[in-house]
Amino acid sequence: MDDPIKFVTCPECGNQQADMGKNVACEECGFGPMPTAEPKFVDVKLVFEDWKKGGISVYQTEEGAPLSYGDFHGGTTFCAQIKLDEEEEIELKEAIKKGYSPVFRLCL
Ligand SMILES: [Zn+2]
Repeated sequence: MDDPIKFVTCPECGNQQADMGKNVACEECGFGPMPTAEPKFVDVKLVFEDWKKGGISVYQTEEGAPLSYGDFHGGTTFCAQIKLDEEEEIELKEAIKKGYSPVFRLCL
């Protein structure tokens, strides 16, 4: 196999070690099980923010008013799952902890 070795990060001590699959402990601090590099579904909350058309907000416009009267208006929250690998999950969590909000465009 010539798959590149994937590394995972210990959530306890930040140690990086090769991904050995499930149920492996951290070589540094013994934390276990270490996360694996396989993408997994992470529970998230989607907090509705805006209606846009062509990249421009229509929320406060006559055109957007009927949309905002519906179930999707500022602050309505929906439970969802997104598939993230470990690196992506850490990147998001660290940014959110610092007070940043990732904003996505939803496609169906
Ligand atoms: Zn550790």
